[in-house]
Amino acid sequence: MSESFGNGILKGLGVTLKRFLDTYADDLKWLGKRYHTPEGILHRASKNGRGIFTVQYPEEKIPVPEEFRFVPLLVYDVQPDGEKVMRCTSCGICSRVCPPQCIWIVRSTDPATNRPIPDPAEFYIDADICMNCGLCAEYCPFDAIKMDHDYELASFGRNLYNKAQLAKPASYYSGIRPVNAAREDAARAAKEAARASAHE
Ligand code: SF4
Ligand code: SF4
Repeated sequence: MSESFGNGILKGLGVTLKRFLDTYADDLKWLGKRYHTPEGILHRASKNGRGIFTVQYPEEKIPVPEEFRFVPLLVYDVQPDGEKVMRCTSCGICSRVCPPQCIWIVRSTDPATNRPIPDPAEFYIDADICMNCGLCAEYCPFDAIKMDHDYELASFGRNLYNKAQLAKPASYYSGIRPVNAAREDAARAAKEAARASAHE
């Protein structure tokens, strides 16, 4: 009984030693690219990875797929003169469909006529309540609210984001979701072309 117990310990130590040595062998094979590169992280996570495969967060981060969803962002377009124009028209659809009701929007009004202006005066998302479902982005008719990839939101306070904190340029959005952004840009361009030809 005690002999087989000893054999088990030796076998376990042998597995640990092999993994330890495999790490150096894999390091040499990858010549410095095993760590801190997306392909190195993917290799270690694959069936071909040898040795230690722990991701050394926060120095290393696992690349997220395009469809990864985290707290929404508000997209703005930069005009040729540098002006930043928010796509949001403050229609309120996103706040109505949001299941935990964590979106608050304050509409702007024209001081002269007191009529609503399609531009939110204030826009808040309580990121501590947001469940990252993506419904707001699915329902927005103006491609104005999209799911972000930034998941590092830990803080000592409440994560209540305002319009300025949520706003990100269209170039950022197309950087994290290139396939989606290209498809949506093409659809918007086709719609505008159809509208223009209808007025001819
Ligand atoms: S983000 Fe979209 S759905 Fe929400 S208020 Fe703005 S335009 Fe409407
Ligand atoms: S992702 Fe879901 S929970 Fe978060 S703001 Fe959008 S609709 Fe609400």
